[in-house]
Amino acid sequence: THFGFEVVDENEKTEKVHQVFESVASSYDKMNDAMSFGIHRIWKDIFIDRLGPVPGTRLLDVAGGTGDIAFRFLKYLKNTGNSDAHSESHVTISDINEHMLNVGKGRAQKLGYSDEQISWLLANAEELPIEDNSYTAYTIAFGIRNVTHMDRALAEAYRVLKPGGRFLCLEFSHVNNQVLQWLYDRYSFEVIPVMGQVIAGDWKSYEYLVESIRQFPNQEDFSKMIRSAGFRCVSYENLTFGVVAIHSGFKL
Ligand code: SAM
Repeated sequence: THFGFEVVDENEKTEKVHQVFESVASSYDKMNDAMSFGIHRIWKDIFIDRLGPVPGTRLLDVAGGTGDIAFRFLKYLKNTGNSDAHSESHVTISDINEHMLNVGKGRAQKLGYSDEQISWLLANAEELPIEDNSYTAYTIAFGIRNVTHMDRALAEAYRVLKPGGRFLCLEFSHVNNQVLQWLYDRYSFEVIPVMGQVIAGDWKSYEYLVESIRQFPNQEDFSKMIRSAGFRCVSYENLTFGVVAIHSGFKL
């Protein structure tokens, strides 16, 4: 591991992840913009575009944090459908960390969303307190790499989706170009923790984020995991040369 940060066992990882997101919750949105030069907004827009929600879509956004995916989902429906389209649809924002959800709730209020459109669920992606076959879509954006047992989270995604439902994951992935990889490493290891310190007063948490990106399986390997969970028509799309990838699968 880098910089002496080490995840010793599973409970420790879960606890560490909780601490990280507790300490970054208030600065999370600002840091995202700073670290990605605002590009995460474009990735998230493309992600919702690929999901292409229609009126009546019932979305479960897992590791939904401060609501970026959920708000885009509702906005997309508002912009594409008839004016009531968004009210027929629903999104549940689920996250393991109450601090992230609280920031999200504040944002939802400011944006004027009603409780009919959004519900909030404090839950671990590995063990969702949700009945089988409940949702037509499941999204997880920049979340699954933080989950201790990804296979369990994928199995849960499969379980809670209705037949025909879609799994869509946005996550940092592996860059396939060596020059870019070199630049990306320099940026990740030398710039991001410094930014974390300067903007959020928190070096360690951002060091963890970089480390977790490095350890995440590559596009092919993660596709295999999605298939193993039972999903069909599994595919992925690289964005920004594989800095992130959108993985897709269907419960058929
Ligand atoms: N999806 C949001 C976005 O794209 O802005 C938030 C992403 S944030 C990098 C990762 C989120 O995953 C955090 O809010 C964290 O609390 C949550 N998380 C970490 N482990 C989790 C788990 N096991 N189950 C559910 N959420 C988890």
